[in-house]
Amino acid sequence: MAVKPKVSNGSTALEPTANEKDAEKLRFIEEMTMNADAVQERVLAEILSRNAETEYLKRYKLCGATDRASFKAKLPVVTYEDLQPDIQRIANGDRSPILSSHPITEFLTSSGTSAGERKLMPTIREELDRRQLLYSLLTPVMNLYVPGLDKGKGLYFLFIKSESKTPGGLPARPVLTSYYKSDHFKSRPYDPYNVYTSPNEAILCTDSFQSMYAQMLCGLLNRHDVLRVGAVFASGLLRAIRFLQLHWEQLASDISCGTLTTQITDPAIREAVMQQLRPDLDLAHFIIKECSKGDWACIITRMWPNTKYLDVIVTGAMAQYIPTLEYYSGGLPMACTMYASSECYFGLNLRPMCSPSEVSYTIMPMMGYFEFIPLDANGTTMCNGAQSQLVDLAHVEVGKEYELVITTYAGLYRYRVGDILRVTGFHNAAPQFQFIRRKNVLLSIESDKTDEAELQKAVTNASELIKPYNASVVEYTSHAYTKSIPGHYVIYWELLIRKDQIKNGKSGTIPAELLNKCCLEMEESLNTVYRQSRVADNSIGPLEIRVVRPGTFEELMDYAISRGASINQYKVPRCVNFPPILELLDSRVVSTHFSPGLPKWTPTRSK
Ligand code: AMP
Repeated sequence: MAVKPKVSNGSTALEPTANEKDAEKLRFIEEMTMNADAVQERVLAEILSRNAETEYLKRYKLCGATDRASFKAKLPVVTYEDLQPDIQRIANGDRSPILSSHPITEFLTSSGTSAGERKLMPTIREELDRRQLLYSLLTPVMNLYVPGLDKGKGLYFLFIKSESKTPGGLPARPVLTSYYKSDHFKSRPYDPYNVYTSPNEAILCTDSFQSMYAQMLCGLLNRHDVLRVGAVFASGLLRAIRFLQLHWEQLASDISCGTLTTQITDPAIREAVMQQLRPDLDLAHFIIKECSKGDWACIITRMWPNTKYLDVIVTGAMAQYIPTLEYYSGGLPMACTMYASSECYFGLNLRPMCSPSEVSYTIMPMMGYFEFIPLDANGTTMCNGAQSQLVDLAHVEVGKEYELVITTYAGLYRYRVGDILRVTGFHNAAPQFQFIRRKNVLLSIESDKTDEAELQKAVTNASELIKPYNASVVEYTSHAYTKSIPGHYVIYWELLIRKDQIKNGKSGTIPAELLNKCCLEMEESLNTVYRQSRVADNSIGPLEIRVVRPGTFEELMDYAISRGASINQYKVPRCVNFPPILELLDSRVVSTHFSPGLPKWTPTRSK
């Protein structure tokens, strides 16, 4: 039977395939998207009725109502900060039904932060099934576009992170750590379309070196079987390539001798890898020949020649990595399959092989209840309170931008996720969204999200160190530098040194070591996700300050005005990505400084 998607009336209908299991899943997608509004109404009624006795819904006097009108009239649109007192009570051990009638089983630690700490999202056991349901739809969709995935394996670099416990004793960990540690993942039934080269034991090791080493080694051992190479986000795949660049000699040596380096101490990993590892001189020579050239172009297709596509998210903040991934893969297609968060898994890309700039995600209406705050002409969302303006999933308009608001089975009600989405079309009656940006995020290298206020605080704290030199930071801006792996934050500083007020025998020039220390001081001031990425994951490099010569920011303003900015309204951009502006800044750099050490970070929360 044909496996091609059929185009009709501008939207793509998913045709049944030769594989009955897939056909059932595709029918499910069709059914959900055709009845998007009715499914949404049912989901809302289910969430409100099961949680009718919760403290939260009683607080807003919903009185058992489960209809949209009462819900919209009575419940406020909220942010994490609004919910924090309730969430903190649950974290401290209060087991009464505060947000959800179902017991809270764990907290998912979002990469979004509040007051410098990761946000804690309470979740319930059945949410794992809902996430699993969304995962189960990905392969049937991919099979429509890429045949033969059952004839080989996927090389996926997947990792867990360390977890902590809340004062009340519940685990607090990232959503993927929770998923990989669950039986849904660990005891998944054999599926020829989803055979991974990485042993579970390697994925489930918290030591990122040992985990990566074993996953890379197994990927190399299976190089001819690998049909797709992936990681969750683009930054993760680039880390893997960097790892190969740094460790190919050891990997080749292990493969040539059939022994595993003593750096791998985890007994479970050793056992799993040794089941596959045999001396293979040809493979070892091949790795040495390819990697010793120092030329890394197309390294993915050279190492894994049967790769059909990269399975990796390159939308949103990850778009900055597309050129590098193209370079390493020789332009292989990049499939962005899914849009999800700790709060809720939202939806999937029904055309996963499209180009990154065309990716749209179809929000699946059974995952939660979705509302949308329209953005006004300035690209800002309405302020809290105007909750009647929210638009339902089935009623958003093509071409418009919205901020996503969710109500979940786990007990978030009208919660602002902070993502800005643009409607690109519909699949049946379900809208499809392009991910535009995360609200208020200035800098991001991987899962870190640094906003303007955090950057401002970091600059303020660091500039305290140069005060004794009568120096101050008069202007600054920033850039996420991702041309090297790992990427790092670059902060451009323009300094003012008041030579007329030099006291205490200071010379009027700031010692380079002190400016290096300023880099570290900035890192100390950044949020916990940033510091974890620096310390535990090594996925962000040392922060860099580039001191530019006096007058540079004035030139920046002149440039902006020459391009049509209004003098009255001109504001220094706190983050720059536009190449001519970066060139201008870089041409005015008088000194560069890097953080000389690692900022403080511990796996436990500070409160
Ligand atoms: P977290 O709460 O740490 O799981 O992060 C979830 C956030 O990651 C989402 O709210 C988005 O901002 C971002 N994100 C997740 N999936 C995608 C995607 N496919 N494209 C772009 N951004 C994404």
